[in-house]
Amino acid sequence: MSPVRSRLEEVIAKLRARGNRITPQRIAILRALISSPEHPSVERIHELVRQDLPTTSIASVYKTIELLKEAGEVLELEFDQANHYDGQRPYPHPHLVCVKCRRIVDPDTDGLEDLGRHLAERAGYRLVGQRFDVYGICPVCQSEPMASPPGLAPATGDKQQQGR
Ligand SMILES: [Zn+2]
Ligand SMILES: [Zn+2]
Repeated sequence: MSPVRSRLEEVIAKLRARGNRITPQRIAILRALISSPEHPSVERIHELVRQDLPTTSIASVYKTIELLKEAGEVLELEFDQANHYDGQRPYPHPHLVCVKCRRIVDPDTDGLEDLGRHLAERAGYRLVGQRFDVYGICPVCQSEPMASPPGLAPATGDKQQQGR
C-alpha cells in the first residue's frame, strides 16, 4: 500500500472511531490534503477537491480541517496570508519555505529530529511545542530565467541583498 493510501486509511479510521461521519466529500478533502506534498492552504484544498466534486463548499473544507485538528491528525502552520496544513506528518517538524513561489516542503531531517528537544533541555526548558521554518529560494525558482543570475554575489557593495 502506498504511504498516502495507508495514511488516508489511518486518518479515516481515526475519525470513524471518534464518531465523525465519513462522506465521499470528506474523503475527497482528506485525499487532497494528504496526497499533496505542498502543505496546501484551505483555498488550495478547495480548488483540488472541486476538480472532482464541483459543489464542495469551502466551509466543508474548513469543517474537515477542524475535525482533523481536534483529532490531532493535521499540523497547522500559521502564516500571515493563509494557514497551511500538513496532513502527512501531524507533529512538529522543520519546514523549508520558498520566498518566491511560497512552496513549503519537508526537508530531510536525518540526525536532526531531536534538535528542538536538545535546545530546550540545554536551556532548562520543558518542551511544549516547536516550530522551525527555514526561508530560501527553492531549486525550481533558482533555475528560472527571471531569478538573479547565479554567481552574481553582492560583492560590489550596495545591492539590496546586502545586510545593513
Ligand atoms: Zn520556489
Ligand atoms: Zn511538513
